Amino acid sequence: MTTTRFAPSPTGRLHVGNIRTALHNWMLTRKAGGDFILRIDDTDAARSKEEYVEAIRTDLAWLGLEADREERQSERLGKYETAFEALREAGRIYPAYETQQELELKRKVLLGRGLPPIYDRGALELTEAARAAKEAEGIAPHWRFKLDHDEPIVWEDGVRGAVKFDAKLVSDPVIRRADGSWLYMLPSTVDDIDMGVTQVLRGEDHVSNTAVQIQMFTAMDAAVPAFAHEALLVGKEGKLSKRLGSLGCDSFRERGIEPEAIIAVLARLGTSLPVEPIGDRAALLETFDLSTFGRAPAKFDDADLERINTALVHAMPYHAVKERLPDGMDEAGWHAVQPNILTVGEAAEWWRLVTGPIEKVQFSEEDRAYLGEAASALQWTDDPWATLTSSLKESTGRKGKTLFLPLRLALTGMNHGPDMGELLPLIGEGEARARLERAAAA
Ligand code: GLU
Repeated sequence: MTTTRFAPSPTGRLHVGNIRTALHNWMLTRKAGGDFILRIDDTDAARSKEEYVEAIRTDLAWLGLEADREERQSERLGKYETAFEALREAGRIYPAYETQQELELKRKVLLGRGLPPIYDRGALELTEAARAAKEAEGIAPHWRFKLDHDEPIVWEDGVRGAVKFDAKLVSDPVIRRADGSWLYMLPSTVDDIDMGVTQVLRGEDHVSNTAVQIQMFTAMDAAVPAFAHEALLVGKEGKLSKRLGSLGCDSFRERGIEPEAIIAVLARLGTSLPVEPIGDRAALLETFDLSTFGRAPAKFDDADLERINTALVHAMPYHAVKERLPDGMDEAGWHAVQPNILTVGEAAEWWRLVTGPIEKVQFSEEDRAYLGEAASALQWTDDPWATLTSSLKESTGRKGKTLFLPLRLALTGMNHGPDMGELLPLIGEGEARARLERAAAA
């Protein structure tokens, strides 16, 4: 059983980077069998909003990445308190009293000397009396987790391979603020233990958090899950882009991007597998493997997404889109317009050529005579377009553009569009003849 979790903070909408992490966690569990948990990291009460929780659920549902269960950190504060007390009891958590300015100054001094800005554990040096004096002054402590400097931190990362950290080169992390509120580090570890998470897959910006959290797992006598850190998602120019940070499901939906296109692109971006228009998730799952993930940043290019989207739209069967098509548009209608559209939404624009009214076009006298002849020559065979054009070719000697274009213009009001052979039967005999006669008369 593989249990994964996607743990967004509900302080904004999901963006393409979060979606990618959610997808990969979903894929891990769907491939191996197990639970995919949506964990709402809402310990920051001031910044977390219910509307974002809703939006996260809606987006995941639209993408077809529903979780098997949902957990909320704000409902688990008692668990964190218990873990905190136990770790404090065990000497792994200590109070610290430095102000933000003092810490900043310490950092500057170290950096000025060319040293890494690691917290100097000044708070551990405080005597009982000094601590009591701080408390008497009304200074409430914040709390740090004490890393074990003698314990080497090593793990076999699912993407990065063997990773090693020297605990001495990492600051003891602040895990709780002076006002009692929680920072991310401890609650996440407590949850991963309680929820039986076996595999943590997240962005490489969390690598140093993992180093700390591995010591937390050990300090709480828990098994350490498997960790994997995927390379970050960047814009096509190779830089972290602001635009990517705000690119989410709403804008994809508005542009007519199908969830399956997003899934196909994000499933393989940054891996050694080619990004292809694969609409079948089972097929994507089959090849999904962390060992194909590269360490170089994954470049997200909108043009790729659009290309994959169009290819998928061109392959979509009628039953998969029928609810989203205009009234009356049947399977033949879908097939007629499908090659001409980039998005499913565009089907409605072409469908108007069938249902009318169509644009009025001015023809030359010669073309009007030709269209009059077409109106009388129209025969409703199995393939009325082929019948009509071959008989007109014969009778008028016209060919190519002069043969076809006036007909298309008269029948659809446009000089380009879906295949006339497919469109004409949909327009219907009576309406087609009426359109030709109107054009001939104008
Ligand atoms: N809420 C954290 C974040 O969004 C979760 C990180 C994790 O996956 O552990 O960065």
